[in-house]
Amino acid sequence: MAQAPVLEVTESRTADVAGLTVRRALPRARRRTVGAWCFVDHLGPAALDERLGVQVGPHPHIGLHTVTWLLEGEQRHRDSLGSDQVIRPGQLNLMTAGAGVVHAEESLDYWGPLHGVQLWVAQPESTRHGEAAFEHHADLPQVELDAAVATVLVGSLDGVRSAARADTPLVGLDLDARAGTSVLPLEPSYEHALVVLSGAVSVDGSVVRPGALAYLGEGRDELAVTAAEPARVLLVGGEPFQSPVLMAWNFVARTREELDAAYADWAGGEERFGAVDTALPRLAAPPPPWGVRGR
Ligand code: MN
Repeated sequence: MAQAPVLEVTESRTADVAGLTVRRALPRARRRTVGAWCFVDHLGPAALDERLGVQVGPHPHIGLHTVTWLLEGEQRHRDSLGSDQVIRPGQLNLMTAGAGVVHAEESLDYWGPLHGVQLWVAQPESTRHGEAAFEHHADLPQVELDAAVATVLVGSLDGVRSAARADTPLVGLDLDARAGTSVLPLEPSYEHALVVLSGAVSVDGSVVRPGALAYLGEGRDELAVTAAEPARVLLVGGEPFQSPVLMAWNFVARTREELDAAYADWAGGEERFGAVDTALPRLAAPPPPWGVRGR
């Protein structure tokens, strides 16, 4: 007999990123990952007309991919690989940290609303100690559904595949929904979750709004998403991640020793992580939650 599908709605917590309040849907205390997705920040919509924009100085990452997707606004990405890329709505930035990378995010002369998501994907053992990399995708494939246009950010939908890198089986979709119901074909071996970015949608009879993660579990081969009025929705999913990840600040690892080493290497200079060509100051790491080794 078929089991009733899982639907767990978890409130996002608010966090501050460079003075901008964001809704952090992942990680939460009882939901650390969805597939390899380990971090979901929903930024804005925030008016930038009375501020200097979002300026995030050079900071390091290890063991993850950062995935940036904007609905409004623009941001300039620069990293220690020499990448210098402005990202605008409809485009995807995907940076691979591997053993270490540094990047900075700056608002340009753009003075309008900023609205988007910043996502992290945990890297598997096979690539997490490897080379850093950066990809920009200006053209992402789209799939027309009954009452929505789905943009395939990562992975595939209905056989239509994004060129973005994925080190483990993964999917990330943006749904631009009109009033009506769209049925999304899903990979049943994946677990899935959705985050509403604007408007509201109904799933399994429950209404989901911005500020929550709707975890959909595994085993679904399709999902009906109903909107009463236009809505934007992010759907993430993937094969349940095999290793428990340890996250601290901007680092994703497996052991505290690895995290301690990353903190020490960042505090000690730029040798491991490299430098970014920017006037913004490097960010200092907060102390790790378990204290500093040797004190
Ligand atoms: Mn970052």
